[in-house]
Amino acid sequence: MSEPLLIDLSKAGRKAYCFPPLDLPRGFDQALPSLPESLSRQKSARLPEVAELDVVRHFTRLSNMVHGVDNGMYPLGSCTMKYNPKLSEHIAGMSEFTQIHPLQDVSTSQGCLSVMYNLIEDLSSITGMSWGTLQPCAGAHGEYTGLKMIRSYFVKNGQSQRTKVLIPISAHGTNPASAAVNGFDVVPIASDEQGMVDLEDLASKLDETTAALMLTNPNTLGLFEKHILKISAMVHASGALLYYDGANLNAIMGMATPGDMGFDVIHLNLHKTFSTPHGGGGPGSGPVMCNDTLRPFLPKPDIELTDSGYVYRWDDEDSIGKVSMFWGNFLVLLRAYVYILRMGSEGIRAAARHAVLNANYVAARLASTFPIPYGKRCMHEFVLSCATLKEQYGVSAQDVAKALIDEGYHPPTMYFPSLVGEALMIEPTESESLETLDRFVDTLLAIAERAKTDSESLRTAPHTTVVGRLDEVRAVKQPDLRY
Ligand SMILES: *Cc1c(COP(=O)(O)O)cnc(C)c1O
Repeated sequence: MSEPLLIDLSKAGRKAYCFPPLDLPRGFDQALPSLPESLSRQKSARLPEVAELDVVRHFTRLSNMVHGVDNGMYPLGSCTMKYNPKLSEHIAGMSEFTQIHPLQDVSTSQGCLSVMYNLIEDLSSITGMSWGTLQPCAGAHGEYTGLKMIRSYFVKNGQSQRTKVLIPISAHGTNPASAAVNGFDVVPIASDEQGMVDLEDLASKLDETTAALMLTNPNTLGLFEKHILKISAMVHASGALLYYDGANLNAIMGMATPGDMGFDVIHLNLHKTFSTPHGGGGPGSGPVMCNDTLRPFLPKPDIELTDSGYVYRWDDEDSIGKVSMFWGNFLVLLRAYVYILRMGSEGIRAAARHAVLNANYVAARLASTFPIPYGKRCMHEFVLSCATLKEQYGVSAQDVAKALIDEGYHPPTMYFPSLVGEALMIEPTESESLETLDRFVDTLLAIAERAKTDSESLRTAPHTTVVGRLDEVRAVKQPDLRY
């Protein structure tokens, strides 16, 4: 059943609020300058008038229609939809943290500053980098920041002819977008038959106009770039820098560092790897960490620990400047810090091991029914293909994804990366139990069986949701957002 809008529930005179008595003198507003006639409202705004119970039931019903990690498995590859401990939520809701103002004198915000300072230190050791910034508010924003630092570095060193950024074709779409926004030319790099960077193609494209290679490792096929040390030597030998897309650090955190792999600058997605509920657009956090080469170019202000406590440092002529208001999404930073403290280095390693084990377990159980074209062993995620189902029974990856919704699962990422036809990219994360993983696999196997006998019901799925199969192309090409 569809849910009416609040305005449809409106009845004149109903209300769900009560204000405290006015404690200003009557007529106080007479003294205020009044708005010009042309700007003031001629009749009252049409706002919904509803009772408290109407509001509560409306939003509770809407919340029941939504799928989240808290009500079912969410194997959305490349997004790391892991469980976010309630402890982090509880602490991020404490008034000591929510009621603080970013412009308060630093002598009154030492606690918050220590959270940020310690978080930068922890992220530095997790990534093998020397320092970083917490300002960027999303992964893409971190990419923008890191690439801007690379640009400034080459301008400063008299090499502004370095205008090309090399990006493997399997990369996340934000990589080429961030490079283009920074004014770089994007040069695609091919993948070899194992799904790795094609070294010959890379060698042929590295030259004195190359600024950077942007790499995701493990890549979006869930595979570790075996030749990473060779790649980083090649890139540095050509005078270019190496950028690491660390949005999905789940597979390697505590086990290996981008620093040891030879990367110069990286971004992390705290909202994926380090415990912040996400989806639907934020809030996020995409810290940028870098080595000593790029450290002078980090955004300002930086935080420094002095004899008199934590202070902001603004000076640095090479800094690219500020990239967000104040210090980024502080409460996301706080959740990440709580997560790291609570897990400890052993816990973080254990999470990485379980993320990899869970992905390999699910992949191994599915592989004989759904081919996995790249890699027998994966890291935190893998990409299977529904191409045979499509050929034999006309059932596409999208049909399988929609059928999963009816069974209580969020669909995996679809049709990405484009190297795999009819792709479903699955990332179970470390959060799920063996029983949940088995139920998920059994459900997918049952859907594959159903393709043989009842493919029509798959092509028209989902059947249990408020709205059924949507025309996704039309929704994009002809959006009609009017009420
Ligand atoms: C999610 C993701 C990004 C982008 O992060 P946003 O916070 O959505 O901007 C970049 N790269 C990879 C590999 C990702 O998975």
